[in-house]
Amino acid sequence: MSPPQSQRIREIIRLLDQDRELPTLSPVVEKILRLISDEKVSIKELAEVIQNDVSLSFKILKVVNSAFYGFTREISTLSQAMVILGLSAVKNLALSMSILELYVDGTEGEKGGDDFTVFWERSLFSAVAARRLATEAKYKDGEEAFMASLLQDIGVLVFIKYYPEEYADILKSAKKNAVDISILEDQHFGINHALLGEFLANKWQLPRSLTLPILRHHDPEGITQGQNHEDVEGVEKLTHLVHLSYLISTIFYDEYRPDRLAFLEKQAKKYLNIDRDVIDKLLINLAEEVKEVAKFFGLHLVGTKNYSELLMAANIELGRINLSVEQMNTELVSAKRRAEELAAQLAEANRKLEEMANLDGLTKIFNRRVFENLITREFYRSNRYGHPLSCIMIDLDNFKNVNDSQGHLVGDQVLREVASILDSKLRKSDFLARYGGEEFVVISPEANAKAAAFIAEKLRKAIEEHVFDIEGREIRITISLGVATLTNAMEMEHEEELIQLADRNLYCAKNSGRNRAWTESDTAKLEKNNQPPVEVKATV
Ligand code: GH3
Ligand code: MG
Ligand code: MG
Repeated sequence: MSPPQSQRIREIIRLLDQDRELPTLSPVVEKILRLISDEKVSIKELAEVIQNDVSLSFKILKVVNSAFYGFTREISTLSQAMVILGLSAVKNLALSMSILELYVDGTEGEKGGDDFTVFWERSLFSAVAARRLATEAKYKDGEEAFMASLLQDIGVLVFIKYYPEEYADILKSAKKNAVDISILEDQHFGINHALLGEFLANKWQLPRSLTLPILRHHDPEGITQGQNHEDVEGVEKLTHLVHLSYLISTIFYDEYRPDRLAFLEKQAKKYLNIDRDVIDKLLINLAEEVKEVAKFFGLHLVGTKNYSELLMAANIELGRINLSVEQMNTELVSAKRRAEELAAQLAEANRKLEEMANLDGLTKIFNRRVFENLITREFYRSNRYGHPLSCIMIDLDNFKNVNDSQGHLVGDQVLREVASILDSKLRKSDFLARYGGEEFVVISPEANAKAAAFIAEKLRKAIEEHVFDIEGREIRITISLGVATLTNAMEMEHEEELIQLADRNLYCAKNSGRNRAWTESDTAKLEKNNQPPVEVKATV
């Protein structure tokens, strides 16, 4: 502890010792306390003492006749009340009223007025909560729990009285930062309200069963520390009740925090074996009950909120939290979208790569590499199962002239259109590729020589009939085709042989005048007529 703090403690203790304005209990209550500690006191004797204070007797009767106790028969005398409620209950009622009078009187003081109001309302609230908890925990004396809880923060009065501004700041900071108030008090004054409360309670000569819960209500674990075991026995449960009533008051009076309820529920289970749903039920109508009790005590509440109001506030808070969850969600969604976009870009890039690997850049039909793979596969398949396979080699006629007269770009456009026309004339099962510069090739699985000749003629005609309209210029071109078909009768071992045959026939087509398809039957006809094979001449 730092020197200024120890000075503060000394100062506080000096003030407490000297100050005659310190809260004092009414002489009647002091007498009641003395009588109660005497085991042999009779109901009559006690009733006589209380009756000396007319207003106190009146209040007690009012309370015992209230709906709070729910007796059907009217209780008209204090002795009757003591018989029905028990001596201890009436004693506690008298004490509670005396204490509350102290509290409420303080409200009228100028210093710390607001804090004072909140203080006693909160004390009353805790007291009602403690009595409810006592019922749930089957504690023997609900009034005692009420009393002890009501007194738990009595030490706060000292702070409010002597250090109203400083204490107001500490209260604010405790609420805002969710720090236990007693820790801040220790830091600031070197002493906390639990200790001061015990000091006051001892001054009033309250029994140990009350001073101990006051001392330990923030730290119930430490109840056995530095205590005689006998002292503690029987007070432990009361201390736990007071501690829990304090936790309940944090939910209603301190700033909203979602973990407060969870902590209360945990402690209630741990100390008193009270289940969550019981706590939840208890919280719901607590504020109403406090208002009722305040009425019976002749008090008017200003600051007490009920649970539904609190839940509303909590929902607003939750809304804020949800909003940030929503923001997080939005971020996640956009991150996911970015990831999806990247994945799409990657897929597109991969598709392009594949396209680049498989398709011809100019005409967007398959390239020679793909053709070679396919012809190899188809050749062996046809060979194995004895199915026909046709290959048609196509070359544009005098294409050099187009390039020369129209320019290379027009030539490119013609090549693209030729590819597209050829493609449109073929069946899905046929395969078209660009074989080289202005050469194309068709693989037609299952097509015999006749079918292949038919396909070739169809292609030739399509190109011959097409008028290419490129940038307003009409261009006509033709193609020559060499058709080769693998049949059972042929003894071919490799696909190259089929390609070479198609190539040779293409040259036959060129040499026999272009714009025509040359098939094996054309060669056969020549052979039949004993004519020499078509001479392969250089193209024009
Ligand atoms: P032939 O009827 O004998 O086949 O005559 P040709 O002029 O078509 O034949 P040649 O082999 O002499 O010329 C082929 C021409 O095709 C030469 C070249 O400029 C053109 N060519 C090849 N590839 C392309 C291309 O990608 N774009 C363009 N514009 N022209 C091409
Ligand atoms: Mg050509
Ligand atoms: Mg050529």
